[in-house]
Order: sequence, then structure tokens, then C-alpha cells
Amino acid sequence: MTLDRRSFLKTIGTTAALTAVGTAASAREHVEAPADAVGMLYDSTLCVGCRACMSACRTANGLEPLKEEGGIYDAPIDNNGHTKTIIRLLDDNGANAWIKNQCMHCIDPACVSVCMIGALKKDDHGIVTYDKDRCIGCRYCQLACPFNVPKFEWDSATPLIVKCEMCNHLVADGKQPACCDICPREAIIFGDYNDLLAEANRRIETEPDRYNPELFGDSEGGGTQVLYLAPKNISHQDLGLPDLDDQSIPELSETIQHGIYKGFVAPVALYAALGAVMIRNRRQGGER
Ligand code: SF4
Ligand code: SF4
Ligand code: SF4
Repeated sequence: MTLDRRSFLKTIGTTAALTAVGTAASAREHVEAPADAVGMLYDSTLCVGCRACMSACRTANGLEPLKEEGGIYDAPIDNNGHTKTIIRLLDDNGANAWIKNQCMHCIDPACVSVCMIGALKKDDHGIVTYDKDRCIGCRYCQLACPFNVPKFEWDSATPLIVKCEMCNHLVADGKQPACCDICPREAIIFGDYNDLLAEANRRIETEPDRYNPELFGDSEGGGTQVLYLAPKNISHQDLGLPDLDDQSIPELSETIQHGIYKGFVAPVALYAALGAVMIRNRRQGGER
């Protein structure tokens, strides 16, 4: 039997791509939250959008305070080099809900995975911390984060990355994060991660007419230590949270890397995977 060029490419591509995937399947284990994990639970149905949390966050973290100048209130529309958390309003065809954004303290964080020199780390409680003395400003963390969280201080001569560290300086003193401490509605609460999971599920079960049955963060992106409850009939994606698989980004990317480099199959696996993509693309383009 002879193989024409297209069949040859198909065979090589498919065989070696399967080799890569098969090798990879066992290469990277799913990461669980640490035993002493802490977290935060945000309940959009309780939030009234007062933005006290934004203000308290800035004060507690030495950031320029929210202020009113010339009648114009400083209300950024996204986190930035001066803002570690924001409150947004979903206002869409009668659907109204508040959403708080800050670092999600992912259980298996992409930012930590890509930070070459360990400026971003998870501590014993699972809080993702930032060491400004190690950071070289490459901004890989910005590109990798599925929640678009790390921000660069573009207006600084010595720019750093700015992101929520769950007020770890307060937590270390036995206090709550500033946003949780000040919230008049307890819309954002801090505590043991497993207790927060149980509390969120309890609310969903006891008030099904109030809540979206999906709890965001229990599995999305490999799980996050900041959990979100949304109002019934409003999806987390409507609130601006990404639609993520249960597999974390590092789980996927490190699995592929391990698969490609394991056992000297690198060139074959890599070119085969590329070949498989080529074939798929040609098929999608109509060529058979
Ligand atoms: S302080 Fe509480 S109620 Fe006010 S905006 Fe923040 S989370 Fe919502
Ligand atoms: S939300 Fe982004 S910055 Fe925060 S831990 Fe996850 S990947 Fe890192
Ligand atoms: S935990 Fe601290 S740093 Fe993070 S959003 Fe709340 S107040 Fe800001």
C-alpha cells in the first residue's frame, strides 16, 4: 500500500498527536485547595453597590484614595494601577445586578505558573501574593490571568504589578480583609474556604428562588478561593465572569509541555500536533 502526501501527514499527525496527548494525560495532577485555605464569598444579591469596599481597599493597601474632584467622582470602570477591586453594575433589559471584581485567588493560578522568578506565589492559606522585589515587570501574569486581574502601573517611573492579595497583611494580624470588614451588607465575607463553600451551597439550597443554582468558583478554572453567588436568572457570564472549563490553565499547559518533552518525543509530538491542527483547519476550510 502506498501513501500519498496527504495520507502520510494525516497518519503522522494523528499518531503522534495521540502519543503526545496519551503521554500527557497522566503528566499533571489536578491541584486542590490547601488544607488551611481561606477565601471570600461575594453574594451579588446582597450587594447594593455602595462601593465602600473599593474605598476601604485603597485605604488599607496604601493606594490613592477614591475622591471627588470638581464634582466628578473617581469611579474607574476596571481595576488599574490604583484600584485592586471594583464594583460594576449589570444593567441589561431589566436585569440588574452588582458584581465585585478582584483577584480570584485561583487554586491553581496561571499567574503563578508563568511567573519565571517566583514574584507571584500561593501562601499556606492559598492567598496569591506578590513580591515587588522579585518582579522584573515582564507582565506575563497579565497575559496569563483568565480574569484579567493583574494591572501594571503604567504611570509610574518604577512600575509594579497591582492586584488584590486578600489583604494578607491584615489576615496575618488576625483581621479580615478591608472590603469584608466594611461591607454594610456582608455581601463580601471572608473565612475558611470550605466553610464558605458550605455556606454558599446552603444559601442556594434554602433560597432557590433567589439564587442562580450555579456557584461560581467551586470548579471553574480549576476552582477559585473567591466564590460568587449570582441572582436567579442572571448568569455569571452576564456578570462578566469568564466561561471556563474545570481544568485550570496550568493543568492544561503543563500537561501539554510534559507530554511534548517526555521521552524524547518532542519533535515528533510537536510537529504531529501542528500537523493535526493543519489537517483540522483544512477540513474546516472544506478540503478533503
Ligand atoms: S461594600 Fe458591600 S454592599 Fe457596598 S458595594 Fe461593596 S460589596 Fe457591595
Ligand atoms: S485571578 Fe489572575 S491574578 Fe488572581 S490568582 Fe487567578 S490567575 Fe492569578
Ligand atoms: S481583599 Fe483587600 S486587597 Fe483584596 S479587594 Fe478586598 S480590600 Fe482589596
